[in-house]
Parts: sequence; C-alpha cells; structure tokens
Amino acid sequence: EKRVFIFNPGPAALPIPVLEEVREEMLSFRGTGMSILEISHRSKEFEEVLNTAVLRIKRLLNLNDDFEVVFIQGGASLQFAMVPMNCAQPGKPIAYVDTGYWSTKAIQEAQRIVDDVCIVASSKDRNYTYIPKEIPIDDNFSYLHITSNNTIKGTQWWKFPKTGNIPLVADMSSDIFSRVFDPRPFGIIYAGAQKNAGPAGVTIVIIRKDMLERIPKNLPTMLNYTTFVEKNSLYNTPPCFAIYVVEKVARWLEENIGGVAAMEEINRKKANLLYGYIDSQDFYRNPVQPEDRSWMNVVFNLPSPELEKLFVEEATREGLVGLKGHRSVGGCRASLYNGVPLEAVEVLVDFMKEFARRNG
Ligand code: PLP
Repeated sequence: EKRVFIFNPGPAALPIPVLEEVREEMLSFRGTGMSILEISHRSKEFEEVLNTAVLRIKRLLNLNDDFEVVFIQGGASLQFAMVPMNCAQPGKPIAYVDTGYWSTKAIQEAQRIVDDVCIVASSKDRNYTYIPKEIPIDDNFSYLHITSNNTIKGTQWWKFPKTGNIPLVADMSSDIFSRVFDPRPFGIIYAGAQKNAGPAGVTIVIIRKDMLERIPKNLPTMLNYTTFVEKNSLYNTPPCFAIYVVEKVARWLEENIGGVAAMEEINRKKANLLYGYIDSQDFYRNPVQPEDRSWMNVVFNLPSPELEKLFVEEATREGLVGLKGHRSVGGCRASLYNGVPLEAVEVLVDFMKEFARRNG
C-alpha cells in the first residue's frame, strides 16, 4: 500500500523510520515478549524509555538543570488552564498576547481562573495576519503568555519579546523542535505532541524550577505541576505509548537529522520553496506579513472558494492530503512539520503549478 504525502495540521506526519520501528517492536518490546501497550508503567523497561525521552528533549532544546520536563495528558488545551492555576501570583495580573484562535482560547480559559487577565497586545485589527512588535510589559505581571506558532493563522514569532524579570510562557505546540531558540527566558513551555513530537495523547511541559515556588498548595493533585515533577510523570498511569513514540521521534531528530539546528535548515528549505513559489505568481496568495510567516503552517488562498475546494479534492486524489484550511478560516493550508520531507514540498509545488496552469 502506497504512503501519501501528509500535510495534516495535527495529528501530523511522523518520520517513516519511527513508524517502522514501532511496527517492528509491536509484539515484543526489547525482548520482553510484550508490547509497549501491555507492559507496566512501573517496569524498568518503561522507566528507561521515559527517562531517555526526558534526556533527549533536554539535549535537543539545550535545557540545563534549571528545567524540568514532564508529560501530562489533557492536551495543550489543559495547559491553557494549568498555566494560570500554577503560575499566576496573588495581586499580579497575567499578560497575554492575542495572535488568534489558540491564543484566544488560552486567554478565554485564563479568564475563567484569574480575574485580572491583561491582553497587552493583539493582531486582531488585521485579522491576525501579523505578530505584534510592541509588547508593553513591566514587573507587575505574573508572566507573559504567547503562542510561538499560530497553526491556523500561519504566523510565527521570529523574535521573542524581551520581558526582563517576567517569565515568558509559550504554547509551542506547533513549532517545538523546529528551530533553535534560547530557552532561558521561558518559565513554562508546553506543546501537545501531535505535530512535531509524536502522537496525540501526551503534552510535553517544560518547567523552569523557580516557577515551582509560586504554585498554590491547594490545587488538585493532577492539576499541580509539582506532582509531575516530584513523581517523574509517574504519579498515575501515564500515556505510555505516546511517550514511547515521543522518545523515538526525539532519537530520530538527534541521530538521523543531527539535532534541532539541522532540522531548522531543512525547515527553512521547505518553507522557502513553498513561499518562493507563492510569491512568484498571483494565482495563490498568502495573506501573512512576510516577516511573520510561519515555516510550519503555510496558509494560502486561490481566486475563489470553488477553486479551493477543487484544489483540495484533486490534490487528495494525487496523494497530497491535509491541505484544507481550518474550518474557522477556510482557504488552504500546508503544514510542513518536521515529519514532512522536502520531497513532499517539491511534489506539492509541482502540483500547484500544474493546477494553476489548468485553472488560472
Ligand atoms: N495550541 C496550538 C498552537 C495548537 O495548534 C493546538 C492544536 O492544534 C492546540 C493548542 C490545542 O491542542 P490540543 O488539541 O492538544 O489541546
């Protein structure tokens, strides 16, 4: 059976070597005679998988011993609530930048928990087609929350705001491991695994240790970051299979690709190829301010919704899947996550040229 080229926004394409390894180990994991789905989360085999996943994530992101890495269920959406529960300080407002859909959801969730949520900057005035550059922030805030890559609007932060003593908090669900960045200003980073890091079902949460000091004591056990840190993500049964695949994706990134800097170069090539083509003609159009374009999610429009529908249908028949834009915005979107090879983008651009020739 033929594999297709996968441009899904998430769950998204995974590296073929990872999928092959999972298949090979499915009936017997590391000589145990059991699959990873059947083994105890307290076994030494699973603990080794979990600890290796943490070590690899720390190496890939240059996280020193000031940072803890934990695995939590509930998706990035639960982090929208856990962040303010754990990190808001009494008497200090929390600050958010609104860059569309997911950051708006993060804000709405925070407003359920904390009275004083301050939207310090927003790009709503131009339909979220850019990243705000002026972020007014001072020491009176508990933290500043941003969404580093906007999966639906197709924008990405290329220069993180300077926040001085205020910890940055970032939802990196759709660009973690895609480019190099300095983690030190970040108090919390969270990412649902299902785009760049593995399967759905686990969220990677990176916690700078000083953030643990501000956590209120009365939080429910499973909503308190301290539980996950103190119990090494093993307070209760973790999503074993998802963590197992995350470890494999991290290994692929380290050993096959050569780390995040090497991945960044591949991602640059993929994005340049697609944006370069889009900018060279006028059948397809990308609405985003050029310096804020996302390398992970390339959104584009055709001359009419009818042509967009036909484009997605024909592409699917040609084995190019997942190109429909998010239901909230319409249009088209190609997600070029780490698991999408350069070859897939080459095939996509060829198809786009051919489609434009026939319908332009
Ligand atoms: N944040 C971003 C940037 C996303 O792209 C998504 C999902 O696409 C989410 C949050 C929601 O993630 P989850 O479904 O894991 O709750």
